[in-house]
Amino acid sequence: MLRPTIRSLNRRHYSTTSQPRKNLSSLAAGFVLSVGALTSFYIFFPHESRGALTSRDKKLSSSYFTPCTVTQSEPCGPNARLITLSLPQKLLPDPEERQFSAIWSIFIKDDDIQVERPYTPLEGVDSNGQMKIWIKKYTHGEVGRWLHSKKVGDEVEIRGPLQTWLWKSDDAWDEVVMISGGTGIAPFYQLYHQIISKGVSAKTRFTLLHSSRSPSELPPPEIMQQLSLYAVENPERFRFLIYVDSDSDHGPNSNVGRVGRIDKDAVASTVMRTNTNQWWIWPFKRSVEFDIRRTLFLVCGPEPMIAAIAGPYGRNLSQGLVGGALAELGATSSQVYKL
Ligand SMILES: Cc1cc2nc3c(=O)[nH]c(=O)nc-3n(C[C@H](O)[C@H](O)[C@H](O)COP(=O)(O)OP(=O)(O)OC[C@H]3O[C@@H](n4cnc5c(N)ncnc54)[C@H](O)[C@@H]3O)c2cc1C
Repeated sequence: MLRPTIRSLNRRHYSTTSQPRKNLSSLAAGFVLSVGALTSFYIFFPHESRGALTSRDKKLSSSYFTPCTVTQSEPCGPNARLITLSLPQKLLPDPEERQFSAIWSIFIKDDDIQVERPYTPLEGVDSNGQMKIWIKKYTHGEVGRWLHSKKVGDEVEIRGPLQTWLWKSDDAWDEVVMISGGTGIAPFYQLYHQIISKGVSAKTRFTLLHSSRSPSELPPPEIMQQLSLYAVENPERFRFLIYVDSDSDHGPNSNVGRVGRIDKDAVASTVMRTNTNQWWIWPFKRSVEFDIRRTLFLVCGPEPMIAAIAGPYGRNLSQGLVGGALAELGATSSQVYKL
């Protein structure tokens, strides 16, 4: 979730190192070459965020920014807020497009410094144009801090949707295992809201393994309650397992979960299970190996967590090789996606 890729084009970088003075003609030549190279790059490799304008009367789109209003901003654990953004009715996408396709995000622009970052509306956008987003603030982070300072009634500019990853019902996975850390649960909650809880792909079984540093940093209670309740009521469809690094503090979430990190054993236990349908096995309480080839693993969270579970991203934020716990379990690149 904290990958620099999408952001890198939009982040400001300051250099504090001074360069030795060069002679004037080589500087001029360098300047001409640089301008030429930059112009070619601009023409041949356009990026949709570049120069995106703001429109107050066109419907929400990824090609330009649309102003919307902060209609709610509630603290939710240390350094996190649940923020609701509301789009004017006339700028809402048409009803058939409104849910878009899970999993998608929007860019939010920090107007003070003209930097944009992607965020995931937990439940998509509703018919009133509302989008709820769980946003974490980092001590030296730019956009998160700026968003936390916004008050109800303030305007922020967004563009989207941007497809983070596309759920395809035809893929017919037997099992989908989602592994998240911190705000990395947001895309999986969107998938839950739009796909899992709606009964889409009814034959697929979903497991969500989520970790937070402490109970007080767990996702907002309304998210935790929804997921926990659905898991209790639909045990054959959905499992929800919570991990905390330490249980030294207690937040509003009474469901603290297991203490420890999501590791190979934790993931393995989701794909190995007692097959209760096979009556001749149960007296021996044996675990039978689930066919891992028909299991999809989706991973979203801080980079060190992604690396430990699925291997690091590749160059230019490509998927890279499958590594970590999932490689040890025998998962291949077609079964693993790092969001
Ligand atoms: C598809 C997608 C969806 C996302 N959805 C969400 C979501 O729903 N909710 C959410 O909270 N986040 C989400 N994110 C992450 C989000 O886009 C931002 O990356 C995050 O909010 C941090 O941005 P920032 O501008 O606040 O911090 P940045 O300025 O990008 O800083 C990020 C990190 O670098 C550190 N840092 C910054 N400056 C310095 C410095 N000078 N020295 C040392 N360290 C520094 C910060 O402390 C922080 O740890 C998503 C990311 C992606 C790719």
